[in-house]
Amino acid sequence: MAGQQSSESSERIVLNIKGLTKRFGGLVAVDNLALNVREGQICALIGPNGSGKTTALNLITGIYRCDEGSIQFFGEEMAGLAPHVICWRGIGRTFQNIRILGSHTVFENALLGKGYGNKGAGIIHTVLNTARYRKERAANTDEVNEVLAYVGLADLRNEKARNLPYGKQRILEIARALITKPKLLLLDEPAAGLNSKEIYSLMELVAKINQQGISVLLIEHRMEFVGTLADWVFVLNHGSKIAEGTFDQIKVDPDVIQAYLGREGAKLAENS
Ligand code: ADP
Ligand code: MG
Repeated sequence: MAGQQSSESSERIVLNIKGLTKRFGGLVAVDNLALNVREGQICALIGPNGSGKTTALNLITGIYRCDEGSIQFFGEEMAGLAPHVICWRGIGRTFQNIRILGSHTVFENALLGKGYGNKGAGIIHTVLNTARYRKERAANTDEVNEVLAYVGLADLRNEKARNLPYGKQRILEIARALITKPKLLLLDEPAAGLNSKEIYSLMELVAKINQQGISVLLIEHRMEFVGTLADWVFVLNHGSKIAEGTFDQIKVDPDVIQAYLGREGAKLAENS
């Protein structure tokens, strides 16, 4: 919704990032980044390849440590905390490159989120099928089934994950993240590689997740996805934020068009 980030907005700030900087040798992958995600919003982080989007998500989730800056989640500092602690506090995520165990079932893959999100047995116990894992599994079955039903994968719960069409594997990753009961869900290119029908289902799912009160920050190249779903868009280029606003505002911004010149620039213009 236009204007949601205006100063008179009364929503609570879920994620408040200031001065976030990450260097890899001489390269400044994320450069003094500031952004806010307000409660109930779907925000998008867009920008050309290599502009620092995934690095920003890796900083928020504690996979990388920032060199400078602050990452506050509901007012609490997250910078410096371990990834599993950040997950327990309520930040869930999916990855740009799909991360599922193909030879394990849909159910087992979703259950992995439970181990990670709720201080459970975790991947080693899960893979080795230890007693601790079996006990937790019994306790968690209902919860996993509920989430699988919610995302529309209940019928496929006993299927090996590698047999799922790509679009459903992406949804399985979202299910695994939802099991951690996030208040903020971070999605790294959820629509990459999906056909238009799969993108439509994914958009419906993200909207449904958001309607139940989970704020979303997503990275996406598919402009129809961003244009349809995002309340607010941040644009990165060479690690720096060059624009933010509604999709209608940023798509006519000369700096944004300049950054996207070429194939993606044309796509952006097509959506104007
Ligand atoms: P995006 O997700 O926007 O495509 P990334 O955040 O993946 O971009 O990458 C931003 C820049 O940081 C790129 O130049 C990339 O090569 C570099 N980079 C990302 N991760 C690492 C790393 N672990 N080590 C060194 N350079 C990295
Ligand atoms: Mg990326």
